[in-house]
Amino acid sequence: MGAELLTMRRWIDKLRVTGRLAVARPGVSLAFELAAITKQMQRRSAVLFPSPGGHSVPVVAGLLASQEWVAEILDVPVERVANTYAAAVKAPLPWREVTSSTAQSVVHRAPDLPKILPLPIHNELDSGPYLTAGLLIARNPDTGIQNVSIHRCQLASRNTLSVCILPKHVNAFYEAAQAQGRDLPVSLCIGASPLALLASQADAPIDHDELEIAGALTGHALPVVRCLANEIVVPADSEFILEGRLLPHIRSSEGPFGEFSQYYGEKGERHLIEIDLVSHKPQPIFHTILGGGLEHLLLGGTAREARIIQALRERYSSVTDVALSIGGSCRFHLAVKVNRPQPGEARQILADALRVHPDVKHVVLVDNDVDIRQSEDVEWALATRFQADRDVIVLRDAAMSQFDPSSENGRGTKVGLDATIPPGADPMRFRRIAVPGQSIPDLISKAGFQTEDAPSYEFS
Ligand code: MN
Repeated sequence: MGAELLTMRRWIDKLRVTGRLAVARPGVSLAFELAAITKQMQRRSAVLFPSPGGHSVPVVAGLLASQEWVAEILDVPVERVANTYAAAVKAPLPWREVTSSTAQSVVHRAPDLPKILPLPIHNELDSGPYLTAGLLIARNPDTGIQNVSIHRCQLASRNTLSVCILPKHVNAFYEAAQAQGRDLPVSLCIGASPLALLASQADAPIDHDELEIAGALTGHALPVVRCLANEIVVPADSEFILEGRLLPHIRSSEGPFGEFSQYYGEKGERHLIEIDLVSHKPQPIFHTILGGGLEHLLLGGTAREARIIQALRERYSSVTDVALSIGGSCRFHLAVKVNRPQPGEARQILADALRVHPDVKHVVLVDNDVDIRQSEDVEWALATRFQADRDVIVLRDAAMSQFDPSSENGRGTKVGLDATIPPGADPMRFRRIAVPGQSIPDLISKAGFQTEDAPSYEFS
């Protein structure tokens, strides 16, 4: 564990000093240009946009570029990410309330959102400017326990946001408040610790406060501060805190919006948040998550991998690792690594993996010598250890993601592919070639190899 909690600014600084933060020219347009640059840079670096569209507040985007970056945030090797996350969900760490925060040093009481926040438009057919990286925090009206989640929020007017809320925990709170004819107070935090962003995606039961999972991820109790106009506590290190209310019975148009699936989430009538107050740091930074970008995919993927490995390892000690591929939008394509499964066990694992999360659609089971985070490696296992007449299991008419446009209203066919070496096979037949030393990471620097010293070989 690091000595201090990783705040968003500490993470940005770490990216900067290691050459992974690009700074754009000032004045990049908030309509598409900012998103286009973010998308082009997303496998290489995060991007900081000074005065985008002439707005005084800078925007940062692309804070997660790979699973290695997620591992760095959690301060563990990449193979430990899913297990570390699963352990934090199981053993949360209560937050620590502080009495003041720089996030409350500037206060707007009749907020004009587009004036205060540099809200970008991301994908081609998005319905307008969106707030995409806000942690939506609400309290259960019955228990007082909080919930944290991220929702796409479209600017609806100068002080309202149309917000897409699925029938999960916040919605349960909202329904309870609405039944009594009451507003549901909510706060939206932008620029909190990346640990809070990761924790917001946890698959925890209702009345499990995701801010406590954020603390448990690296063992630092998350400092929180009470809001100014409601009773909600929020990460004290946020850049912006929006305080408002979800209005009972009111609906407002939202969408389309470019989603993780690389398709548009449809337009619909959604909930409406009226914002009463905005506070922020003296020189705040606004964070945006590009819809369908790597950051969007990896945030959701990390929490899902944790749930999946937890469920599979409860039943099978031979399961050593799982990975949701970027090509499968970190949702649909799962690779499962096993170490010497018992005869017949591979099929059992495959069948369970297809049911472990509704969004998982295709599963590939591989042996320990395959790197499941390299799609090329998984493809090699399929190319050489798999026969379609023998190694396929099919699950018909199963619940799957509504975001998969090939599904029929969220029902469809799932497939498990067994690309493990058959039990009892001649080991030499399936022995993967290797050059001794090929995996030693600093072999090149140890050899003192320098490309600049190479002599010129010109043939005449
Ligand atoms: Mn929850």
